[in-house]
Amino acid sequence: MYTCDLIQKKRDGKNLSANEINHIINSYHTGHIKDYQMSALTMAIFFNGMSDRELISLTKAMLYSGKIIKLPDNLYETAIDKHSTGGVGDKISIPLAPAVAACGVIVPMISGRSLTHTGGTLDKLESIPGFKTDLTEKECLKLLNTVGCCLIGQTKEIAPVDKKLYALRDVTGTVESIPLIASSILSKKLAEGTSGLVLDVKFGSGALIKSHKQALILAKAMVNICNSMEKKIIAQMTNMDQPLGIMVGNSLEIKESIDILQGSGPVDVRNLTIALGAEMLVMAKLAANLKQGKKQIIKVLDNGQALQKFAEIIEHQGGNPNILDNQSLLPQTNKKLEFKAQSSGFVNKIETKEVGIASLLLGGGRHIITDAIDPRVGIEVKVKVGDRINKGSPLCILHIADKPADAAIEKLKNGFLITEEAVPPLSLFAERITINN
Ligand code: URA
Repeated sequence: MYTCDLIQKKRDGKNLSANEINHIINSYHTGHIKDYQMSALTMAIFFNGMSDRELISLTKAMLYSGKIIKLPDNLYETAIDKHSTGGVGDKISIPLAPAVAACGVIVPMISGRSLTHTGGTLDKLESIPGFKTDLTEKECLKLLNTVGCCLIGQTKEIAPVDKKLYALRDVTGTVESIPLIASSILSKKLAEGTSGLVLDVKFGSGALIKSHKQALILAKAMVNICNSMEKKIIAQMTNMDQPLGIMVGNSLEIKESIDILQGSGPVDVRNLTIALGAEMLVMAKLAANLKQGKKQIIKVLDNGQALQKFAEIIEHQGGNPNILDNQSLLPQTNKKLEFKAQSSGFVNKIETKEVGIASLLLGGGRHIITDAIDPRVGIEVKVKVGDRINKGSPLCILHIADKPADAAIEKLKNGFLITEEAVPPLSLFAERITINN
């Protein structure tokens, strides 16, 4: 097969066969297909999309480019993971994983790092003093057998082609392609070897994919791929036209997660933890239906069992569990600055991406993957869409450390639209996509 013929075929809107896709992925892995050829091909995919069959073949080829974890039979049926397509303030994995593990779900969760305006679970976890996310497979299996949960990063062995391809897409303007996103996410998530997956597919100004319509296409594509591979799957669509919860920033989001595990915290974070947790329990056959599942999650959030499970996870992954009783042990800064409303009225719109970028500019995120993160900094967002506010009241509190706040403040000036007319609050939950949709 000639690589140039395959690129031209895709460029001209024709479908590639499974054999051709396998050839491309394997040759890219071994270095026989070069980055410049792959750039041309991903741009052709960006413009022409992929058929369902092509997308399934691409996901499988990327998945099989690396190792697939084989969980022992005693763990497999109850092993379920959650994946979120990411959004500003999305810390759900941190309270969710211990909550469902406290109910008996096995959670081998592989998470990512922050890039641009959305945060990354690994960076948040690493703001816990001592917490290690680079466990070996043997250590993970031991944790799954004892604690029922491990929270780790992608290893070199898992979906190696995705790692190479994602880095290429990042610098060639091809990240925002539905088939490339779907195959990238699932090639990693299916490698965890769980029996099922719950997806939180986000849309809106604080999400990777802003358009609701495009995010819905992504959700349906991922559900379709999993169905074809006989993986249990549901996708919950959620609105990110405002930050999730109050805290945006690494250590700040750990604090908010601890609040949730103590039965309090912002209502949107608690409700999403409960909803996704219930889906995981039903999928693991540990709850008869979503109503029962929700009751079980509420119980462990309110009676301290989920918090206790988080203490076990932290301890087994080398961190200091005393942060749960004494949050001042988490990295923090006492330099704070209020960002105040310039007029009275109603919060009509939050440009959530601007809030995420403001946190990044304070040092809480990365422009490129090698940038260092300052776990102490971030933004406390004091309002939600629909809130009535007075001139001079704080819209945000900036937690500042080494970087000056000027650039972040400039971003926040574009972040909030205040109008005289009232607007209704936003609904977090949108469509739920399953095999039947
Ligand atoms: N997350 C991924 O893992 N891959 C993408 O392509 C986009 C988001």
